Amino acid sequence: MVAVRQVHKVFGHGHDAVHVLKGVDLDVARGSVTVILGPSGSGKSTLLRCVNELEEITGGSVVVDGELMGYREDAKGVLHRLHPKVVARQRSRIGMVFQRFHLFPHMTALENVMEAPVQVKGLSKREARQRALELIERVGLADRADHYPAQLSGGQQQRVAIARALAMDPELMLFDEPTSALDPELVGEVLAVMRDLARSGMTMIVVTHEIGFAREVADHVVFMDDGVIVEAGPPERVLDDPQHERTKNFLSHVL
Ligand code: ATP
Ligand code: MG
Repeated sequence: MVAVRQVHKVFGHGHDAVHVLKGVDLDVARGSVTVILGPSGSGKSTLLRCVNELEEITGGSVVVDGELMGYREDAKGVLHRLHPKVVARQRSRIGMVFQRFHLFPHMTALENVMEAPVQVKGLSKREARQRALELIERVGLADRADHYPAQLSGGQQQRVAIARALAMDPELMLFDEPTSALDPELVGEVLAVMRDLARSGMTMIVVTHEIGFAREVADHVVFMDDGVIVEAGPPERVLDDPQHERTKNFLSHVL
């Protein structure tokens, strides 16, 4: 479903250049859940942003569902940047949920979830509303559909953000520390929604420090440090029997 090959990302130029991703390879099978762990600054967010083309990669390739992201390869093997409209279409197949929920403050929960299907997909308001109500119910907020973000708890806002991402019928969902801005008592409700989503067969890449979630839900756990994947494998192997010093050291601090 997702094939990341030797991806490099350099920010800036010349003396100011920062080499953030240094040849990342990652495969994510359809319907599987990959959890990415790693210290601050290791490149986790940058990797997610490269997968959905919020960042243009400096080298390597990202293929999602058989489609090369951002580029077209001609008969001679030369890459050409795709038109922004095509990139936008590619990106619309990937849902993303951030640490900060980024809901539109002047719209109700329901309107937030309806917005992209109406504006981007051209769904009728009636259709979008019906689908949005289903999604809001799915994340357990049927009784909050007409509330504005400011009237919702952080956990509820994050669940609206998940419903909003799902409204575009993504094939892949990316989560960047979706619970780390939440009060501890609100983390569980968001993880529960993510667990249900995983069980429904959604392909997911999740950056999180929630080791319990990784253990229970992940098919693969990836440990990143300093722009490379240091270690990857099934959760019981990476979490309980890490092979690399850097992984051991990191886990001893988060467990
Ligand atoms: P955290 O756990 O703190 O979220 P992370 O693993 O997500 O960290 P990134 O946000 O991917 O790390 O950042 C990795 C490195 O890339 C950092 O050193 C950061 O300063 C740098 N970086 C990220 N975005 C940019 C940018 N737009 N311009 C320059 N440097 C950047
Ligand atoms: Mg980050």
